[in-house]
Amino acid sequence: MSKVHNFSAGPAILPQSAIDASVAALQDFAGTGLSLIEVSHRSKEYEAVVAEATQLVKDILKLDDNYAVLFLQGGASLQFDMIPMNWLNEGDTAVYTNTGVWASRAIKEAKLFGNVNVVASSEDKNFSYLPKGYTIPSEAKYFHCTSNNTIYGTEMFNFPETNGVPLVCDMSSDIFSRPFDATKFDMIYAGAQKNMGPAGTTLVIIKKSFLETRGTKKIPTMLDYAVHIENGSMYNTPSVFAIFVCMHTLRWIKAIGIEAMENLNISKANLLYTEIDRNTLFSGTVAKEDRSRMNVNFVLNNTEFETEFIKFCEAKNLVGLKGHRSVGGLRASLYNALEIESVQVLVNAMQEFEKLKA
Ligand SMILES: *Cc1c(COP(=O)(O)O)cnc(C)c1O
Repeated sequence: MSKVHNFSAGPAILPQSAIDASVAALQDFAGTGLSLIEVSHRSKEYEAVVAEATQLVKDILKLDDNYAVLFLQGGASLQFDMIPMNWLNEGDTAVYTNTGVWASRAIKEAKLFGNVNVVASSEDKNFSYLPKGYTIPSEAKYFHCTSNNTIYGTEMFNFPETNGVPLVCDMSSDIFSRPFDATKFDMIYAGAQKNMGPAGTTLVIIKKSFLETRGTKKIPTMLDYAVHIENGSMYNTPSVFAIFVCMHTLRWIKAIGIEAMENLNISKANLLYTEIDRNTLFSGTVAKEDRSRMNVNFVLNNTEFETEFIKFCEAKNLVGLKGHRSVGGLRASLYNALEIESVQVLVNAMQEFEKLKA
């Protein structure tokens, strides 16, 4: 079968080395003679996987032992509940920005547990830009933002000065795509299935000093971060397969280097945005300064051509280009594992389609 170019937003493309290692481990995991999906998560071979995946996260993000790294279940969506549940006590306020569907969902859940102050929103223009210039009230328990808005294609390259308010960020769709100062954050979380692995596990990074600010609330055991930290992500059976694939993806990222990864991601995004801006048939939908390198949203100026263009692309093995059902149009996700050659094939298709319609 000829190569399929996977522009899907998530679950998404993974490095071939991670897929090959997974296929092999499904047959024989670490020389045990057993499949990865039939071994005990308490076996020494599997404990080594969780330990290595955890260490790789720390290595890539340059984190020391002041941070705990967890692989949990329930997706990024469960973090929308766990964060306010763990940190908001009676009368506490958390501050959020509303920059898209996922941010809105985080806000909705936080309201179940405390006061929520939405200091900034870009809903007025269908989330096509990032709000800037807001201030974060110093009495807030934490400030929550979304670094990359997967559905709309906006990405934060600068984070606001929080004046001592703990910074919490949903990085589901751009973690490990570029270097950043992780020590500025008190908590980072990311569903694996966008840029670090398959569906089924969620990376959670917590600064230990932030954990100490939680207060004395009673929290259900499975939703209590302290329990998961104490048990090294193994309080209950972890997502054995998903964490294994994450470990291999993280090995691949570390070997390339996060700086080199960013350069590749910049090249891919520039290639596609340049064509969107040049081609008379297409327009970008996002404020230029806020354009995401991970999710590129664009439309056909004549919407009648949309279905035809998507079919035209599929015939060239370019898949996953349909925009999210809530916004329509097109979206090309350019996660780490997507090669620049795939972006070039898409750009060629856009140019060919332009000639066809001329
Ligand atoms: C996909 C996504 C989510 C939801 O992730 P689940 O793992 O499906 O719960 C949350 N936030 C962002 C930014 C996402 O891209």
